[in-house]
Amino acid sequence: MGDRKIETICVQNGWEPSNGEARVLPIYQSTTFKYSSSEEMAALFDLQASGFFYTRLANPTCDAVEKKIAALEGGVAAVLTASGQSASMFSILNICSAGDHVVCSSELYGGTFNLFNKTMRGMGIEFDFINPDAPIEEINSLFKDNTKCVFTETISNPSLTVLDIEKWANAAHSHNVPMIIDNTFATPVNCRPIEWGADIVVHSTSKYMDGHACSLGGCIVDSGKFDWRTEKFPQFNVPDETYHGVVYTEQFGSAAYAVKCRVHLMRDIGAMMSPQNAFLLNLGLETLHLRMARHCENALAVAEYLSSDDRIAWINCPSQKGSKYYDIAGKYMPNGTCGVISFGIKGTRETATKFMDSLELAAIVTHVADARTCVLHPASTTHRQLNDAELEACGVSPDLLRFSVGIENAGDIIEDIAQALDKACE
Ligand SMILES: *Cc1c(COP(=O)(O)O)cnc(C)c1O
Repeated sequence: MGDRKIETICVQNGWEPSNGEARVLPIYQSTTFKYSSSEEMAALFDLQASGFFYTRLANPTCDAVEKKIAALEGGVAAVLTASGQSASMFSILNICSAGDHVVCSSELYGGTFNLFNKTMRGMGIEFDFINPDAPIEEINSLFKDNTKCVFTETISNPSLTVLDIEKWANAAHSHNVPMIIDNTFATPVNCRPIEWGADIVVHSTSKYMDGHACSLGGCIVDSGKFDWRTEKFPQFNVPDETYHGVVYTEQFGSAAYAVKCRVHLMRDIGAMMSPQNAFLLNLGLETLHLRMARHCENALAVAEYLSSDDRIAWINCPSQKGSKYYDIAGKYMPNGTCGVISFGIKGTRETATKFMDSLELAAIVTHVADARTCVLHPASTTHRQLNDAELEACGVSPDLLRFSVGIENAGDIIEDIAQALDKACE
């Protein structure tokens, strides 16, 4: 059989039962694994043999889901993490330590921005943020001798900027550093950034991948394409004394980044996904291709409705004709972007609050990108720690409502919006 299509990978990849084994991915609810000799165990500890020995490093349930996500993104390996936040953090800590520098898109998830700008800056790693739409010359001018990677989002949360992936990949590669991209909103169903030059893909699987808002998680995918064998990245090329002198690029070849992330960062810091959550994530992945299509279709229907209502001040739906990002979204995501749209209502802050409080079907929750339609006002919730200048730098205006269109009947969602607008704007 030739290369599997994305729909088939969603359903079939990962767990491959042998004769007489469970057809459905089992939950290996075990911290540890048994071996018959201490010699076998020692070989595992020295990375001379592969196998499971402790769930902080690897677990068969998680392993199957990692294989599925690696296949979905077209990478060589993946590592599941406890959350999207730990995926973003590990993706950088695997490359950078104190004194290193990262060039970032300024249009990032608020939690990622805080993680980088406060916590990781406090650990001695420098970050420069730049509008992702800036000309490549301006992006290039931020690179320094100690720059070790770039960090971006495919479709930014919540500003919905669609990234020119090739431009950013070119900027990174012309400085011999890898490009990391957070592909949470697009998912590999709508965009596979590795095909456009990205080297590392990270996800908050808590969103569309799980899809049901029932399990927190994250993932790091290694494309296997970046060549780490340069002086910039000694941690991949000099012997790791904690593993009796293993050299990651020599022993693990194109999967050096993913293996180091697991055996170094997971071993030392933890933040592994639990087998139970990996099982739930896998169930979500089995229908990801169906759900993404419906999310996109419904979001477009809602966007069309909002555009026709003169009580709406502005609307941002990258897949909608007339959007600033329509062409670029068409290039990288021809089948659609995601179910999240944003808009502002004419009036005051109170108008927005009254609108939200009047919704009956759409729920006010700190979440996006699951089956149920939900709404959030970032300036007063997820982004409330940011000051006005930081808000603007993240592409979030004070009146922005983030509306995550679910997979219900589109007419019902629109009817709910209409009655809430009537109440808010009366
Ligand atoms: C939610 C989100 C994160 C953080 O993920 P958690 O699973 O909540 O830790 C990171 N990036 C993006 C784009 C997100 O939407």
